[in-house]
Amino acid sequence: MVKPAADAKNEGFFKKLAEEHECGICYELLYQPVQLAPCLHIFCGGCLSDWFGKQQDCPNCRKEVKTVTKSFQALTMISMLLDMKPDLKRSDDMTRELEAKNIFKTDIYEVKPKVEPPAQP
Ligand SMILES: [Zn+2]
Ligand SMILES: [Zn+2]
Repeated sequence: MVKPAADAKNEGFFKKLAEEHECGICYELLYQPVQLAPCLHIFCGGCLSDWFGKQQDCPNCRKEVKTVTKSFQALTMISMLLDMKPDLKRSDDMTRELEAKNIFKTDIYEVKPKVEPPAQP
């Protein structure tokens, strides 16, 4: 009897892991991941920078965002995943583009509260 390959199991594991670390904006594996607080959703720094140019809420759950923190935990998982599955890696052009638009250069970025327009009399 041929054993179902352990590889198939691994494939499933890596697929799941990749799905868990998918950016909700570009639907690719996270690049320079940043985590929002308090909702804890994670996106690529570059993708979220684009979004924040328009509005400063979470693209996934639309909750108010207080801080954007570099996610070193996600980064570790992603680099492990890419070691095993190099085909998930993005092209250099894509990573360069994401790096260029990433506004989250500090470990923690505090979102300034929006200034409300003065009430009309
Ligand atoms: Zn992204
Ligand atoms: Zn969220």
